[in-house]
Amino acid sequence: MASADKQLPPPKKDQVYVDVSALNGGWVTLPEKLFVVGADPDSTKTGKSSHPKQGSGGRERIVFDLGIKRDMSQYADGMQDHLSKRQPIINLPDTKASLENGGLDSTKDVDFVMLSHTHWDHIGMPADYPNAKFVVGSGTLHTVTNGAPHYPASMFDKDPLPLDRTTEFPPAPGSASKDLACAESQQTSHTWQQISTINHAIDFFGDGSVYIVDAPGHLQGHMNLLARLSSEKWAYLGGDCCHDSRIITGEKEIAIYDDGHGGTRSVHSNLPLAKDTIAMIQEFIRVNEEKVEWIIAHDKGWAEKNQSRFFPGKL
Ligand SMILES: [Zn+2]
Repeated sequence: MASADKQLPPPKKDQVYVDVSALNGGWVTLPEKLFVVGADPDSTKTGKSSHPKQGSGGRERIVFDLGIKRDMSQYADGMQDHLSKRQPIINLPDTKASLENGGLDSTKDVDFVMLSHTHWDHIGMPADYPNAKFVVGSGTLHTVTNGAPHYPASMFDKDPLPLDRTTEFPPAPGSASKDLACAESQQTSHTWQQISTINHAIDFFGDGSVYIVDAPGHLQGHMNLLARLSSEKWAYLGGDCCHDSRIITGEKEIAIYDDGHGGTRSVHSNLPLAKDTIAMIQEFIRVNEEKVEWIIAHDKGWAEKNQSRFFPGKL
């Protein structure tokens, strides 16, 4: 049974709430066998690269993930073979066009860009956001320079982020990412705290409206976002914690497949950590079932059912 102290905190006096909108960031074809156990090996699904966006007090705007580049030639050479296996790729509307559809200009109306992680289908075209501050998870800059298990450095863009405008959150307590702090990376001054059943969260604006959640395993620095929508409703944006909502619901398990080098792998760079993160999210949802809507990045089913909630619509 959920104890009262594990519930999400009630609103404070003058609580700030946020609006969250889904943003189209392109579509990618993902072979289902790489993501869930028990899939039809021939079936494919097209996933939504989710890029929900919220404003705080109608003023500060965050774009969470930038989706797919509209100019595929801008991907690193080491990505091109991988991209050829993910066709068809639909890269418009991208996040820039999706914002324009709702009357916002990416070049001046976005205060923060946060990347759940820096895989190719989440990184978009940072140059579209010349006035935004970029905030990423700990160890992200090290990863794009040096690579990660299953994701060599050649798969990352050479200039993936505007370094003069990019900060990393500090490493969560106990995280191995403390060893990955780049000399060039600036850390934000945030501190990690517990919220509900989540051990490592950051109160981004300091007013209890937007929390960053440490969600390790998929790729170094992977993070989720929790937003307070109203006195009783929250949204949990799960990024690539998994690629099929049936893993969160417990109906499916993470696929393990041949890595092409005599071993096995999964879509996550650290499978045990990714499993811990899924268990963490499942527990958080269980305890706060009535209050939390969870959304993962590649969820075509959610997108089909929720077209009215894409920007300028909202959750
Ligand atoms: Zn990913």
